[in-house]
Amino acid sequence: MAHSGERDVFCICKRPDDGSWMIACEKCDEWFHGKCIGLTEAEGDLAVEFCCDSCSAKYNIQSEWRLKCQLPSCYAAADVEKDSKFCSADHGIAFFRELAQGLVGVPEQDLRVLVESSGSQEKFKALGIQTPEFDAKIEPPPDQVAKWEAKIQKIQEALKFLESCRETKKELSQQATEAEGTKREICAFNSKLSDPDSEEVCMLEQRKCIQHKQWPVIFQERLFIQQQTAAKRLRQLQNSQRGLSQVVL
Ligand SMILES: [Zn+2]
Ligand SMILES: [Zn+2]
Ligand SMILES: [Zn+2]
Ligand SMILES: [Zn+2]
Repeated sequence: MAHSGERDVFCICKRPDDGSWMIACEKCDEWFHGKCIGLTEAEGDLAVEFCCDSCSAKYNIQSEWRLKCQLPSCYAAADVEKDSKFCSADHGIAFFRELAQGLVGVPEQDLRVLVESSGSQEKFKALGIQTPEFDAKIEPPPDQVAKWEAKIQKIQEALKFLESCRETKKELSQQATEAEGTKREICAFNSKLSDPDSEEVCMLEQRKCIQHKQWPVIFQERLFIQQQTAAKRLRQLQNSQRGLSQVVL
């Protein structure tokens, strides 16, 4: 604390305010340069209560963050008042468009339905009944069934991998808890979940990791939608094939 008048140094670096973005600790009121603590202004905007490292250790508390918009490139807060995981309907649509890529050409209005009903896991489950309808009149090429079966297989493998990531999270958290003698929860996000060509495990404390917030739930839901959509498409293809062969017989 300054002895008198205005303070001229701040932060862990003990340097003046250089005009760059800073954030204050709710607990000790100290100001920190974002660049010194590895936080961007966009990330800082998600703080409900920022708590510095030394206060975190001293009082065993953590910063509290708003839920980030689930569109990976967006750092705006999700509109939780609307029970949404996105900052806006547009970003929800962008998210589901990305999700649906390679799966189906989901019409815009169906994406809107997905966005508006994507508040909770329960709603996602209900959504299974409402996944987009496909034009059943289109005759499937013969290899379509095999293609969708392979897709479902892939989704199931991804679900298994997600499960193993959850296990790793448990193990790493337990190890850290034992090593430090105080309750620790490690983020443990495996980058392979979003990029098949990499495999890096995030070792940040869960509540300090903004980027991977709620990943176990988010990836579960993502795969769940993909599974529902693919299973529905496969059923339709099988039905229409059956109908077709009956006509031929
Ligand atoms: Zn600094
Ligand atoms: Zn502090
Ligand atoms: Zn957004
Ligand atoms: Zn992380």
